[in-house]
Formats: sequence, C-alpha cells, structure tokens
Amino acid sequence: MSVEAITDTISMIDSPYHGLGEVLETYLIQGQKSAVIDPGPAPLVPGVIETLEATGVTHLDYILLTHIHIDHAGGCWKMLETYPDATIHCHPRGAEHVIDPSRLLAAAGKIFGDALSEFGEVRGVPAERVAESTDGETLNLGGVSLETIWTPGHSSHSQSYFEPDSGVVFAGDAAGYYPGNKGVLVPDAPPPHNPAQAADSLLKLMRYEPKTIAYSHFGYYDEATTRLERFLDQTRLWDRLAQDGVEAGLSLNDIFDLLVEEDPEARELAGIDEEGKRAVYFNLKSFVGYAKWRRKSP
Ligand SMILES: [Zn+2]
Repeated sequence: MSVEAITDTISMIDSPYHGLGEVLETYLIQGQKSAVIDPGPAPLVPGVIETLEATGVTHLDYILLTHIHIDHAGGCWKMLETYPDATIHCHPRGAEHVIDPSRLLAAAGKIFGDALSEFGEVRGVPAERVAESTDGETLNLGGVSLETIWTPGHSSHSQSYFEPDSGVVFAGDAAGYYPGNKGVLVPDAPPPHNPAQAADSLLKLMRYEPKTIAYSHFGYYDEATTRLERFLDQTRLWDRLAQDGVEAGLSLNDIFDLLVEEDPEARELAGIDEEGKRAVYFNLKSFVGYAKWRRKSP
C-alpha cells in the first residue's frame, strides 16, 4: 500500500490487489469534503480504507466512479460498510448496475469466465446512496472542485473528472492503459467498445487543456494534452486498420499483423511476452467487433 501526494488536495493511493501493486489507482481529493475516485474491486478496498484512515480521513462524502466496470467499482458496497453516508456518483447509464449488478456480472462472466471471481464479491448498494451525474456538472468539495466530463467510448458509462486549479484530469480508462506495468500505452477496449465515441471523448478532454493526466491503470503523468493527442492518433489508427481489414475480409490474425507493423506501441507490447500479446489481441478484437457491427448497421 502506498500513497503519494500529487497536489495539496490530490493524492494517489495504490492499494495492493492480491498482493500486487500498480493494478488500479484510487485517487483521493480533499477539500472541506473528501472524495475518492474509483475504490476498485472488493479485494482492493481494505487497503484503500487503511490508507484513508492513516491520512486522517474519518468521513468520506463521495465515491466518484469513472465508470462501473468491476475493477473500478466492484467494491463500492464494501466502502459503504465503513462510510455509510458516502454518495456514489456515476454516469446515469451505470447507476442501475451499481444498485443491481446482476446483469453487469453476467456480461463480465462471458468475457472473463472463471477469472471473474478474482475481482471478489460484488454486491448491489442502496439506491438512495447513488447519484447520477450530469455532463459538465461541478462538484464543490470546499476549497477544491471537480468537473464531471462524460467521456463514453471505453464504455457507454465512462466519465472523467477535471480539477481546474491544478489542471489534473482523471480519465479512468478513456485515455488508454498500461497493461501489466510494461510501460506501453494502448487502448483499453473490452467489448462493447466504441472507437468513434472514444475519439470524440479524447477531443473533448483536450479542450480542457489538462496539465496532468491521472490514469486508473496506472499512475499520473505530465504533458497531458500531448499524451491525449498521441492516444487519439493511436485510437484512430486501430479503428482504421480494423475497418479496412473487415472491409477487405481479413482475419483477426491478419489485422493483428498489420497493427503491430504500424503501431510501435502495440508492436513493443506484443513483443514483450505472451501476456502483452494477449492484451493487444483482446483489445484489437473489440475494434474489429465494432467495425463488423458498423458494417451491418451503417
Ligand atoms: Zn473499464
């Protein structure tokens, strides 16, 4: 477990996941009120709470969700056991699944199979603890504020948070991820992923001219706008190769070969080990799925 101050009001908590660090970052925002962004799945939550206690946070006002995927939000119920008054703030498309996760779990089960159980128990939370966000809404924490920016693409319920004084943007998975801590950024694209929406969301984030970008997986970096621009180019490249490949009747393997030829980051990741290669395949498959869907329903 580690905690690192990014500014006077923002810290990054890295709570271990089955003993591993740098799996999901939780961010703590402290004004007169306190908020965490993405508590993680249940196995991560005890470490987050321990850190909050060590930091002197006795009351938590908000649990802010960049989206409701289990690795970000599965442990909300466990957070509420310690902070029963906290409000869970999420995109309206995600709210019903936070209250009743059964459909979300069924969908995740199809993607992850038995590995889903690693994320620990996922329980619904009382509806009155969930607040639906609006796009552009400002959350005033007293001395520090956060703007909610809807950024669909990675999921339909993705949203980012922007802290205007420091220029830190919390992008969740909307701006890519570093699979397996290998230093290479690629799209995080579980199905159904929508690259057209993802590209629009990246342009939207750039208009805020953020200085620092805080990723969920993982860490925070300066030169946020340059990183967003590069990632937009990468997203468009993956989308173009998938669309052209589907149009030309190429297989996923053929499109993979073209991708690793054209995208140096995908090439590097796929060349590191089997796990890296699997990550590229898994994410590319969703781009191809989108291209097939678009072809059927233009
Ligand atoms: Zn996600």
